[in-house]
Amino acid sequence: MTTTRIAKRFGAAVLEDLKIRNMSASAKGTVEEPGRNVARKAGLSRSILAAAWYRFELLLTDKLAFLGGSVVKVDPRYTSVTCSKCGSRDKANRENQAKFLCLSCGHADHADVNAAVNILLAGTLPSAASETSGGSRGLERAA
Ligand SMILES: [Zn+2]
Repeated sequence: MTTTRIAKRFGAAVLEDLKIRNMSASAKGTVEEPGRNVARKAGLSRSILAAAWYRFELLLTDKLAFLGGSVVKVDPRYTSVTCSKCGSRDKANRENQAKFLCLSCGHADHADVNAAVNILLAGTLPSAASETSGGSRGLERAA
């Protein structure tokens, strides 16, 4: 299981604080609204995704706690439009759903990977004072 693998391999995981409960609550409201099939289907999909993510979070938090680790949650704002190399924040950096290209420094990456690095940085930088050298900002990427 993915959560077990993550919990065993890493001492901590950083997740976006997505307000899952709110998402599933509003989606549920949409599902229950009759006569609007498109909205209903979209609402149901969101609801299923939110439930799956919520469950993933709970499992991961439990398993990490059991192994002495922890989950850190960070504000998800701007993680998808900020360059993980130079910090430039611009909506135009995000070419499309998949592609990130920084207009300031030229850093190119898969948009999800760039966002994941930003989330990791946001969750680990406050405690980065104890890190010894700059290098790769003291972070390891799970391949
Ligand atoms: Zn950049």
